[in-house]
Amino acid sequence: RIREDCPLDKDQLGYQTWGLLHTIAAYYPEKPTADEEREMKTFFMLLGKFYPCESCARDFSSLLKLRPPATSSQRALAGWLCWVHNHINQKLGKPQFDCSRLDERWRDGWDDGSCD
Ligand code: FAD
Repeated sequence: RIREDCPLDKDQLGYQTWGLLHTIAAYYPEKPTADEEREMKTFFMLLGKFYPCESCARDFSSLLKLRPPATSSQRALAGWLCWVHNHINQKLGKPQFDCSRLDERWRDGWDDGSCD
């Protein structure tokens, strides 16, 4: 059973971090300034440096080198992050997420109204 007043294990940390990251991507500007683009790239680079699971952080940093954050628009960033998460899902033997449903999952709620 998950206790909310205990330190996070690797899976809890991952689940909650993805929640934050996908929500940030869902609300990133449609037309970011050059500063916002640069800062978002730095944000992910620092996450790769300080993410408190050493092997996760190492793999994530390599992934960032392979495919740097796409920061040109909200859609680009959210799509890039979906690709990154799916890459990690594949590594962990988890199902692939359908990236065409990103807005429903992370911003608007499912089309069937189940989040209303
Ligand atoms: P999670 O993978 O945490 O997903 C949470 C929710 O996100 C899902 O329920 C789904 O609704 C949604 N989702 C799933 N895929 C996508 C997608 N592609 N796009 C958008 N939404 C999606 N764990 C390890 O064991 N080894 C690692 O190397 C590792 N590296 C990680 C690196 C990072 C940067 C992060 C944030 C986490 C990492 N984790 C790693 C943790 C791992 O990814 C999972 O968070 C953890 O295993 C819990 O998985 P989960 O099944 O609860 O769902």
